[in-house]
Amino acid sequence: MARILMIEDNAANMKLAVLLLEHAGHSVRCALDAETGLALARAELPQLIMMDIQLPGMDGLAATALLKQDPLTAAIPVIALTAMAMKSDRERSVTAGCDAYIAKPLRYRELYAAIAALLPQENALSDQSDAHPH
Ligand code: MN
Repeated sequence: MARILMIEDNAANMKLAVLLLEHAGHSVRCALDAETGLALARAELPQLIMMDIQLPGMDGLAATALLKQDPLTAAIPVIALTAMAMKSDRERSVTAGCDAYIAKPLRYRELYAAIAALLPQENALSDQSDAHPH
């Protein structure tokens, strides 16, 4: 299970995402804006970042670009989240350095699949070592 940083300014979306992520066994840190999220990312080096594109002040794409330019945080996978149904969003998120893209509202299967695809293999190994013998 992973330490995940969620950067999202919408309280309802944040609440749903935290519920889904914690249900899957992840631990979640929350930031309501990009500046707080960047500071948490640098301080805690989460294993995955969920990044809302539309944020007050600095937007999620600018924040992702900064994370990807910083050697400290460049390797952390970023999943972009957006409510905007615009074709250009996927291209813009890829250009900014996002590793995956999810359109809101969140659907748990899509969320879990995107996370599983981005987490390193060692999570599977640690799951095995944590397994109880039957
Ligand atoms: Mn937003």
